[in-house]
Amino acid sequence: MPNTKYIFVTGGVTSSLGKGIVSASLANLLQARGFKTTIQKFDPYINVDPGTLNPYEHGECFVTDDGAETDLDLGHYERFLNVPTSQANNVTTGRIYQSVIEKERRGEFLGKTVQVIPHITNEIKERMQLLGSTDEYDVVITEIGGTVGDIESLPYIEAVRQLRWDLGRENCIVIHLTLVPYLSAAAELKTKPTQHSVKTLMESGINADILVCRTEHELSESIRTKLALFCNVDREAVIESIDADTIYDVPLLMHKEGLDRVVLKKLGLTDHSEPDLTRWKAFLKRIKNPKQHIRIGLVGKYVELQDSYKSILEAFIHAGASNEVAVDVVSVHSEDLTPDNCHQFLAGLHGLLVAPGFGSRGIEGKIAAIQYVRENKIPFFGICLGMQMAVIEYARHVLGISAANSIEMDEDAVDPVISLMDEQKDIEDKGGTMRLGAWDCTLTEGSRVHSIYKQKEISERHRHRYELNNDYLADLTKNGLSATGINPKTGLVEIVEIDTHPWFIGVQYHPEYKSTVLNPHPLFTDFVRACSQYANQ
Ligand code: GLN
Repeated sequence: MPNTKYIFVTGGVTSSLGKGIVSASLANLLQARGFKTTIQKFDPYINVDPGTLNPYEHGECFVTDDGAETDLDLGHYERFLNVPTSQANNVTTGRIYQSVIEKERRGEFLGKTVQVIPHITNEIKERMQLLGSTDEYDVVITEIGGTVGDIESLPYIEAVRQLRWDLGRENCIVIHLTLVPYLSAAAELKTKPTQHSVKTLMESGINADILVCRTEHELSESIRTKLALFCNVDREAVIESIDADTIYDVPLLMHKEGLDRVVLKKLGLTDHSEPDLTRWKAFLKRIKNPKQHIRIGLVGKYVELQDSYKSILEAFIHAGASNEVAVDVVSVHSEDLTPDNCHQFLAGLHGLLVAPGFGSRGIEGKIAAIQYVRENKIPFFGICLGMQMAVIEYARHVLGISAANSIEMDEDAVDPVISLMDEQKDIEDKGGTMRLGAWDCTLTEGSRVHSIYKQKEISERHRHRYELNNDYLADLTKNGLSATGINPKTGLVEIVEIDTHPWFIGVQYHPEYKSTVLNPHPLFTDFVRACSQYANQ
């Protein structure tokens, strides 16, 4: 008799219905009832991980402590649960096949023909139970990427069907997320797409236990009854998921609809308390009642796509709540900026964040923006590439090293103030080869970052190949750009700051990955505080 209960979340009708948010919200409610809960995501694409995907394809790449490059939904899981995820929480078809093929090469299948069923499905089943088998969790929620009916989702759906048989239906339930569209010409909500999608799932042998219906309008009693009858689910298992003002409302909306109650009933978990949502509600109250509105510029080259900087945008929401301030993030496309037009784009802002990124597109615009906010004493926060650009800007305009550049932008740079890390020099593969995951950093006593973190030793997550070239460090420091965070083992500069500026900090790592609702990141919180102070001047 297994101890761990499994919940699978599939999607129907269309993509982008917010399976990640529904999964995270359910996990949040179960956690608030005292169940140890985790979420994992299985993605049906053939890339081994999303690390090599362009943000335009797949949004932000999220990075875990153990250095996995993962789907951005893992960011939601961490933000909602306040518990770190790991490599095991995100599996792709590419990884499944890679591992099956490696086993075949080692002869582990003893001469058998290797096939989708059973070899691929067995590998999927094993991975689906990996976190559950550690005994660390009472409940494991598994989000299946894609939409049922897609060719590439089939092995996953078959694996779920088999697992329900292996584990018993009281240990393994399926929640199907669908869309109930509103036809304005008919002034009606339509259930047919949901019926078809449930039927598709049934053709694969799975009867959904619970339906979560995304909708723009409330579901009437008669619509709910109709959905229950034609989709073969209990009446109480039809859950409305209406558009919310903020994703952080979704756990409360799901609780109101009884999702957590129905889930526990179906899993036979009857012995539980009501969820304790006190801190969550306090957070919501703060984001909904800001005492001030501020405008912070986000300079990047993917700004037209919201998902590219997901964790940064969410970190601003968390930090805004801590300060009781609403942060309006103003997207500024780095390619639009020149030294002559920065005033026009940036003058009304109360702070500027220059985003992470790769490659040379838009670089000069980022440098121009940094010079503008440095000289005009507007709060500045540089992350990864943003920090590297701040170093180049300082070298060029304060130290007078006009040829200062990064080796990433110009391999033959005369003054490579940002150079390729030694361990990266012989690497040719692109996937999973950057400096990834959590590394330690020691902060300088008395620095601004030290006063913000209130501790000397920190650990933050990374995703980069280039670093500040220490040959230039003495010169930079002497002229006012200090390295106030250093990797204790390698001497790599992790943080630069200008102490004569109201707030000017660049970090080589990605603080945004560690910001959660219950633990807003201190750097974001203090940056928003500084921007709010600037706005009040
Ligand atoms: N392209 C830079 C590097 O690889 C910065 C990476 C980033 O911003 N994540 O070092």
